[in-house]
Amino acid sequence: MSRFIKVLDPHVANKIAAGEVVERPAAVVKELVENAIDAGATSIFVDIQSGGKKLIRVTDNGYGIDPEDMLTAFLRHATSKVSEIEDIYDLNTLGFRGEALASIAAVSQIEMVSKKASFEMGKKVILSGGKVMESSDVGAQVGTSVVVKDLFFNTPARLKFMKSTATETAAISDLMTRLALSHMDIQFNYQVDQKVIFKTAGDGDAKKVIYAVLDKEFAKAMVPIELEEDRWHVKGYLSKLSYTKGNRSSQIFFVNQRYIKSRTLLDAISGAYLGQLPIGRFPSAVLYLEMPSQLVDVNIHPAKTEVKFQEELALKDWLTVELRKALRQIDQVPEISQIKHRIALEETSKLPEASVDVKGFKDESASVSRSVTEVPSAQPAMTKQSVAMPSKDILSKLSMTDLIKPKTYEMPEAVYEQTSLLKSSDDLYEDLQYVGQIFDSYLLFQKNGKLYVVDQHAGHEKVLYETFKKTFFQTKAVSQILAKPIVIELGHGEFLKMLEQAASLEQMGFHYEAFGEQAIVIREVPISFNAPATEQFFKEMIDQLESPAAKAQETWRERLILAACKAAIKANDKMAPFEVNALIHQLKTLNDPYTCPHGRPIIVAITQSEFEKMFKRT
Ligand code: ADP
Ligand code: MG
Repeated sequence: MSRFIKVLDPHVANKIAAGEVVERPAAVVKELVENAIDAGATSIFVDIQSGGKKLIRVTDNGYGIDPEDMLTAFLRHATSKVSEIEDIYDLNTLGFRGEALASIAAVSQIEMVSKKASFEMGKKVILSGGKVMESSDVGAQVGTSVVVKDLFFNTPARLKFMKSTATETAAISDLMTRLALSHMDIQFNYQVDQKVIFKTAGDGDAKKVIYAVLDKEFAKAMVPIELEEDRWHVKGYLSKLSYTKGNRSSQIFFVNQRYIKSRTLLDAISGAYLGQLPIGRFPSAVLYLEMPSQLVDVNIHPAKTEVKFQEELALKDWLTVELRKALRQIDQVPEISQIKHRIALEETSKLPEASVDVKGFKDESASVSRSVTEVPSAQPAMTKQSVAMPSKDILSKLSMTDLIKPKTYEMPEAVYEQTSLLKSSDDLYEDLQYVGQIFDSYLLFQKNGKLYVVDQHAGHEKVLYETFKKTFFQTKAVSQILAKPIVIELGHGEFLKMLEQAASLEQMGFHYEAFGEQAIVIREVPISFNAPATEQFFKEMIDQLESPAAKAQETWRERLILAACKAAIKANDKMAPFEVNALIHQLKTLNDPYTCPHGRPIIVAITQSEFEKMFKRT
């Protein structure tokens, strides 16, 4: 590669996909850091202020720029990296169109200081809105430092288009994360508003980098893999089954050192973990693929990261099988998730020492029930234990049982009677005499010598689930117009997918439409939804858009329904008697009013004789 900067032949230049290089602060950071990497830097310092809107500084220890070339570098299509169109397909350099500096300079105040080792002095240039304001010799370290201030100061339309500081910062942080992950031999120091976000050692140790830039829990729960085939070479890290996330944001891929997005790879990961993780939970993975460049089509537009693989299906199948094998090897000896479940279950069969701290107890019971739903239903032993769950809830909440026999009290299996064993559901919810609500969560009723306890969340969830199921493809659900429409910002891909889903969500009672190019505005929601529930539902759904199972209509539908239930559900809510009444009335109409959609009981009963046993009256 020549170190001399030439102006591209216009013919070549025109062939290059024209596009906006600088669309937001993250794009500026990307171009500047890639220039630093191209310049052979081993240490790169990135510093942003106010989401990069106010300031972006990238300092490197690379080759530097010849003082003669400093201003040329700011001309459009000035590059030292390509002179023929063929060169563009060579991925060895990251930037190649020679328009980054020109574009950035045109819309900001930019200052560049650079020095080559062979020169005594460095040079500093300052441009404002593309005009050269200053050019002088300065003393400087070898390398280049670029400061971009007041981005889009002279393009008000663009300035307005910028998102909040938090959003722009997040985009830059994501980018920095990927850069650090793809260049582990470079030392990155990344600061936001003068606070160090991460530093990497630059010693090529992947585990250290992942620990520094990604989730630390993932770093602890990850295992290295290395796979080899004639065509493909894959290295990287997978999370163990014990670690999951609610979305796929930590499934990160690089091909030939370049960050990419790929449905194929997402699908391969899903396939590898299929059936091993609870629904709606996703593994994390950082995978580095190496392959001959003719086996992958990378869009030459630098902002487009979606790639197409040659032999896509073969790659997916191979990777799925190999990753699955690798996972099996990892988890052979103690299956961590299973142990975790087992511990959770064992804990539930012990009575808590005291259950005075109601709040703390609630949290605990929430996490316990969560782990119970994670128990694979294929395991009979586990299922049995999970059926035994309610005993804890009831007895420990009647905390006087602890006082009777604090040490040796063993919970008799038959203390509660699971109502699914009752003969008929027809009259189960008839003539219940309401006693009251406890813990803002459970409704107590009395009837025929039994105390019935209804889990209001589970009951409400089931009612909603059945309602949504009925209306989903048949009739349109009843909606209400929101007083204040909700705007949800999205990635462009998510945005397009959400528009595709508009019709099926309309069936459920959600009405929304495009709001610009990256957001939707929700105007109508089903009657059982309020604004927070709606937001929670959309968040969950957007997470799930990334899920490959979304392709299977049935699963997608099921997930939508579940997400809708979860969002709308009454949790830790005081219920007025008339609401209790309405809930019971709705439960009466169900065919299966015993269990919620996740299989947990809705209603349990304690007989009078069990009470008598507890109080030693028998
Ligand atoms: P491109 O990277 O596509 O060549 P740019 O506008 O990003 O175009 O940069 C123009 C030229 O300026 C580069 O080709 C390179 O020669 C020089 N340059 C830019 N940044 C640096 C840097 N950090 N270190 C050394 N040279 C740089
Ligand atoms: Mg460049």
